[in-house]
Amino acid sequence: MTKNEFDIINRGFIDFSNRDNIQILKKFILSEVTELFVRNEKIRDKLKQNFKEDELIEKIFKILEIYSSKPLSTFKEIANEIRVDDINLIKSIFFIIRNVSSFQEIIVKKGQGSKYWNNIIIPLLKSHSVKNFIEKKYSFPFRIGLFPGLSCMFQCSFCGRNYDAVYKRDFADKGVEIFKKIIDEAPSEDSSRFFLSGGLEPLTNPKIGEIIDYLKLKNFKASLYTNGYMLTEKYLNKNPSIFNLDSLRISFYGVNDAETLAVTKKRQAFKIVTNNIINYIKLREKHKSSTSFGLNFVILKNKSSDVIELFKLVSELNKSVGNGKNNFDFITLREDFRILGNRMDNNEKNELIKNIKILEEMKNNDKYLNNIHIDYGFALEPLKNGFNGNKIESNFASFDDLKILALPQGRVVVDLYGDVYLFGEAGFLDRPGAKKYILGNLFEKNSMKNVVEDFIKNPHQIDFNEEDRDFLDAWDHIAVRLSQQQSKNRDFGISFDDGLINIDKINDHLKSKHKVHFSS
Ligand code: SF4
Repeated sequence: MTKNEFDIINRGFIDFSNRDNIQILKKFILSEVTELFVRNEKIRDKLKQNFKEDELIEKIFKILEIYSSKPLSTFKEIANEIRVDDINLIKSIFFIIRNVSSFQEIIVKKGQGSKYWNNIIIPLLKSHSVKNFIEKKYSFPFRIGLFPGLSCMFQCSFCGRNYDAVYKRDFADKGVEIFKKIIDEAPSEDSSRFFLSGGLEPLTNPKIGEIIDYLKLKNFKASLYTNGYMLTEKYLNKNPSIFNLDSLRISFYGVNDAETLAVTKKRQAFKIVTNNIINYIKLREKHKSSTSFGLNFVILKNKSSDVIELFKLVSELNKSVGNGKNNFDFITLREDFRILGNRMDNNEKNELIKNIKILEEMKNNDKYLNNIHIDYGFALEPLKNGFNGNKIESNFASFDDLKILALPQGRVVVDLYGDVYLFGEAGFLDRPGAKKYILGNLFEKNSMKNVVEDFIKNPHQIDFNEEDRDFLDAWDHIAVRLSQQQSKNRDFGISFDDGLINIDKINDHLKSKHKVHFSS
């Protein structure tokens, strides 16, 4: 292979549509297939009887192109695209792809769908929760969001919460006891099982430190998602357990005073939260805390230039800390995924592609932004790679998808009243229409096992509405679509083990230090 050819294959991202790349990729595919055939003569003979060499390479190229950018495609759709209808031949082609490690790497790491693969699909597949869902078998939820907040001081414009709803105060205690019970019940082999989020604002629960300490005592990691408003110096001195967190993410709602007020409706919110960030970082250093710290920022319609302002602000906040360096471990950037929200149009997305380039340069040239991990999430990762095609809404669960009611074996969220919700955005107290997505109550049923098992055995009769799709967060959309995909693949006649991904070996391709955020 020439150096140019080698560079194209080894790039972090492969552009299948670039005509210059196509021949190089096909040449590469041929060399990998030839090598595999030496070890697998039976497969070679079978495929050679049915396809000319260039035909076979073209089909493999097509599959890599589709599955790396649209990981929720079904095997039937792929078979139609490559125009093969013999199930045994399809299985033989899939065998090749599953057994060539560079093809596996291309699919999960080098296409527009890499974030889908890495952040949700592979963790879910490895956990067997999708398999258990399809086979109607119980398993303890792979991820559980604990929602400890009693109330929230913001009224964010895009929030689904009921602004008048507050939990009864005595449930700060009772709810925390129920959280401890779930923590006791959880299998211990996966330390990242829990995250603390909302629901409402987690720091409004005076017992938050006790939950963090309990998770740590039981050898679970503790991650907290907060709006940062209460994270004052006084609060931190009173709640030092915050410094024992593994990860702390502040949802940041505006790059200046006016914008933050417009979103949160809370005067002084911008000033208070930015001051809290500076103080938190100083105290984190004083406590020698190893908490991974960062911000989450949702880019709203007509606000794509905010990403530049955000990074300017982060640089300024770092300067104010006064230790001469960057103190943020990560920034997660997200597109607004609400079904009923306004989507960015193509022009704005092109604008965003330019702005992302600028911020990547800023990151390289400013010591106060050095080494920040930017997680672009599902929707923005393709834009980071210069692509404006793979729309987030194309991966939304449809109204019909919703009816399969995935996936309690994958993720549930639990509130202080012990209600276990199926979807992340349904877990807001008294959110109109959300109650029907409560699987069961932990005070009544005593254990998560009972709640999930009862739900699997006796699924609720639910009166679905189109608007209910707004109860799904980004995780839920993918989990529901993934469950649909796997069940359709099974009906098509190809089992999970005969598919395109070798899930037992996939970790070899996924070495990354960055922690996945299971709260959207
Ligand atoms: S989005 Fe979060 S911070 Fe904003 S109102 Fe809703 S719960 Fe509160």
